[in-house]
Amino acid sequence: MRYRALGSTGISVSVIGFGASPLGNVFSSVPRADDDALVGRAVDAGINFFDVSPYYGAGLAEERLGEALVPYRKDVVLATKCGRNGANRFDFSAKGITASLEASLRRLKIDAVDLIQAHDIEFGDIDQVIYETIPALLALKQQGKARYIGITGYWPGLLARVIAEAPVDTVLNYCHLNLFSDEMDAVLTPAAERMGIGLINASPLHMGILGGAQLPDWHPAPPAVRVAGADVVSFCRSSGADPAILSMWACLQYRSVASTLVGFASTEQVDSACAALDFVPDTQMLKTVRRLVAPVFNTSWPQGRPENEDAGRVAPALEEDEIKVAKA
Ligand code: NAD
Repeated sequence: MRYRALGSTGISVSVIGFGASPLGNVFSSVPRADDDALVGRAVDAGINFFDVSPYYGAGLAEERLGEALVPYRKDVVLATKCGRNGANRFDFSAKGITASLEASLRRLKIDAVDLIQAHDIEFGDIDQVIYETIPALLALKQQGKARYIGITGYWPGLLARVIAEAPVDTVLNYCHLNLFSDEMDAVLTPAAERMGIGLINASPLHMGILGGAQLPDWHPAPPAVRVAGADVVSFCRSSGADPAILSMWACLQYRSVASTLVGFASTEQVDSACAALDFVPDTQMLKTVRRLVAPVFNTSWPQGRPENEDAGRVAPALEEDEIKVAKA
């Protein structure tokens, strides 16, 4: 494993982080009996950064992760979130944030968390996030209930704007720095680096698209992106390559990112992510993958309040025959 400084926090995190949303059964059902082996394999591989949220399975992922981390509590950096309580339920008020962290600490069975993050701020009123949510997080930090505070979300430009105005320690962006996109690097990274804010990248597989399994109903990616992802998966497999290793490798090339979070549902997936550390891709294969992704590179989909969207980046319309392929 390799480790990097998480901004100015003084914490050192593994470049591959454990995303715990699968423990909330958000992609598919993950057997609870496997939790100890899964978390144990990650810790053995040197992974020390774990990310969860009350939103993942309505508290289930926190409960399961908290339980499985009991033997390793002193050795790991644990991050959770607040503000997002359901697919369409958000509460970024000071009262809601404080109650949410209290409930998370109970589920995680700890007195304090290393990092508390306002979850998916693009769904909130940004003035409220800056002037109410962040001050509430700072108060929790002062009370010793969280060591550091951060924000998470989908739009790199929005996150860049908010970190310029709010005193956070970390910023997490997802689906904007992997084989499908480099917008986080172009838009958010320079601002975060300048301010010494820890950068966390999430969803190296574009929320499972490059895992090749059937996607859950809630997955927001437009058909053209799914088609390109399916093409990459079948091309890699026919070449004897693992698309998950390639996509994690692509993320690890960005040295400004402290950690890339991948959602793990099995010990094999932990092994696959870690294989990316020593991976050297075949140049021709990489070229073909980049060509397959090129038509949808940097495509985003609507997410959050329209007024919070980064301008001009919604998915292009599909031709009729492409829609048929995407649905198949
Ligand atoms: P991801 O791109 O990491 O994909 C996860 C999916 O891919 C899961 O279904 C997983 O089982 C599967 N997978 C993982 N490794 C695989 C492999 N080797 N082969 C085949 N399939 C594999 O997407 P994600 O889970 O959304 O993102 C990772 C983590 O980042 C989350 O668990 C969460 O902790 C964090 N995250 C945070 C936010 C936010 O705060 N707004 C948003 C997205 C993700």
